[in-house]
Amino acid sequence: MIVILKKDYNEDQLGNLKDWLKSMGLDIHLSAGANHTVLGLVGDTTVVDADLIRALSIVEDVKLVQEPYKKANRKFHPEDSVINVGNVKVGGGNVQVIAGPCSIESEEQLCGIAQSVKESGATVLRGGAFKPRTSPYAFQGLRAKGMEILLTAKKLTGLPIVTEVMDVSQLDLFADVDLIQVGARNMQNFELLKELGRMKKPILLKRGLSSTIQELLMSAEYIMSEGNEDVILCERGIRTFETATRNTLDLSAVPLLKEHTHLPIVIDPSHATGYARLVPPMALAAIAAGADGLMVEVHNEPSRALSDGVQSLTPADFDTLMAQVNAIRPYAYKYS
Ligand code: PEP
Ligand code: MN
Repeated sequence: MIVILKKDYNEDQLGNLKDWLKSMGLDIHLSAGANHTVLGLVGDTTVVDADLIRALSIVEDVKLVQEPYKKANRKFHPEDSVINVGNVKVGGGNVQVIAGPCSIESEEQLCGIAQSVKESGATVLRGGAFKPRTSPYAFQGLRAKGMEILLTAKKLTGLPIVTEVMDVSQLDLFADVDLIQVGARNMQNFELLKELGRMKKPILLKRGLSSTIQELLMSAEYIMSEGNEDVILCERGIRTFETATRNTLDLSAVPLLKEHTHLPIVIDPSHATGYARLVPPMALAAIAAGADGLMVEVHNEPSRALSDGVQSLTPADFDTLMAQVNAIRPYAYKYS
């Protein structure tokens, strides 16, 4: 962090600023130039509130030379993180496909879909029991009953499972869940993130509807700074002026995140586009861009789905997609 002082700064005030910065464990390198005097701060500047310093009357400006996230930062962890989800590895060249319905609707529905996506090559089963719906009148998920069904499908297929937690109070039901999903709407529910940070389970953190890449990384940092470093990031489309798709898939997030973080990045082309016919091309583009995995909604009867049927692939469409994913994998862009 570099602090640029105003020309006519007062020595007493500078002394106070230096004492304050030193009390935060930082080393200060002062260089007085003809036009400007600058302080170079060396040490863990993540603890410093740049806005507070910027607001001081002797300060002209503050420049950040380092990102405010530490645990998620590739600078301090150059190797890709590989996260174990049950018996499946995500990251570091392991590409995994998470598939399943948006919502768990019945045992028959989930187990049928689970078996067929497994046969097609999916390695993790998804299904929502607690559903964050825009309307309170829409299907809210089977909740505890849905969690039971999910565990039955896990037992039946041997697939590790991922499902969304919406509130800390639900966590008791997640003991046998292999990967806990934080949905887009909860990406900045900081109390939830901190609680998940104290758990010993991998977390799938979805990017918020209107969140920047840095905000996504800061949310990962919330989880990691509490001790849980097993975080998988998920780009699921962001809100833009475009209305032709449900969201806008920010695919450049894949190579960009690879530069900034060692955490794996999964793409969800279902929520990103909102239309089943747009899912396969975007899924393939994500693999080509170097994503560590996909999360795809699959329903046995999309037109009757209780949520997100329009964007759900049929099991047959998913099977076709998996063959294409496998064909394109050798050509995926590799971050180095
Ligand atoms: C989901 O994956 O079921 C979901 C609700 O996604 P998002 O939080 O990305 O909208
Ligand atoms: Mn959905």
